[in-house]
Amino acid sequence: MGLVLVVEDEVDLNNLIRDQLVAAGHSVEQAFDGGSAVAAIEKTVPDLVLLDWMLPDLDGLTVCRQIRQRHVMPVIMLTARTDEVDRVLGLEVGADDYVTKPFSMRELLARVRANLRRVEFDGRPTEAATEGDGGTISLGGLIVDPSAHAASVDGASLNLTPKEFQLLHLFAANPGRAFSREFLIERVWNGDFEGYDRAVDTHITRLRRKLGRLGDQVQTVWGVGYRFTRPKA
Ligand code: CA
Repeated sequence: MGLVLVVEDEVDLNNLIRDQLVAAGHSVEQAFDGGSAVAAIEKTVPDLVLLDWMLPDLDGLTVCRQIRQRHVMPVIMLTARTDEVDRVLGLEVGADDYVTKPFSMRELLARVRANLRRVEFDGRPTEAATEGDGGTISLGGLIVDPSAHAASVDGASLNLTPKEFQLLHLFAANPGRAFSREFLIERVWNGDFEGYDRAVDTHITRLRRKLGRLGDQVQTVWGVGYRFTRPKA
């Protein structure tokens, strides 16, 4: 269950998807072109976006890239072309999943459910955080305390630079989510970073080393960027 934004210019199909999602217990917002989709997301951030590739104004790729500058919710692309799948899921666009047209509603609903469930599971930030802790994240030995800008593994504090801390905080708050380098640059460096690709990689390498036994939780996602996987408790 969650708020799903359906972006599809074919009105009948958009309404059909809406009806099915509502019947399955989701809340739905609709957009019929790329511009209004971006505007809708800025107004109310949905839990998931169903995004058609072919739209009358901005195409789905452009919309997805714009969403990814600022948001981490799952994006499922609707595409008629299987040969575009690599681009859809890759760094270039940054979608989480895709459904090829024509699709069955059953398949679409299953994908929506699976993506929402993944976020619900992975995104649950606190396994053992106590109340009133100011957003402290505790994950299998890793503790990230944003109010103190401090992090530790198995009780040993990590000597992180501010950028490394920001990276780790973003990762730990969204375990399982893949972040493109572009997204990390926008978030952590405010888009202001020259020669960025390799510098992001350098920061990740240092962060991995400082994380010690949890360093391997920072995984390279081929063609996308990086993600932090939930450590075993
Ligand atoms: Ca369309």
